[in-house]
Amino acid sequence: MAFVITSPCIGEKAADCVEVCPVDAIHEGEEQYFIDPDTCIDCGACEPVCPVEAIFEEEMVPEDEKEFIQKNAEFFKG
Ligand code: SF4
Repeated sequence: MAFVITSPCIGEKAADCVEVCPVDAIHEGEEQYFIDPDTCIDCGACEPVCPVEAIFEEEMVPEDEKEFIQKNAEFFKG
């Protein structure tokens, strides 16, 4: 399990989450930030600081944002 960054981050990239993550799991992509599911320790620190409420616990990701679970994981592959 991990936290996941969803579509409101696209074009926003506020990066407040990067500052609070204790394990540097959040990395910058071209259009949005992503959370490395293998590094994330599920501390939850990033979720409340996101000004656009883009961050969800994996199980809480809204139905229409579920593709972002895969998108976050894929960013760190290869
Ligand atoms: Fe980092 Fe904690 Fe957010 Fe995971 S839940 S990305 S460890 S701040």
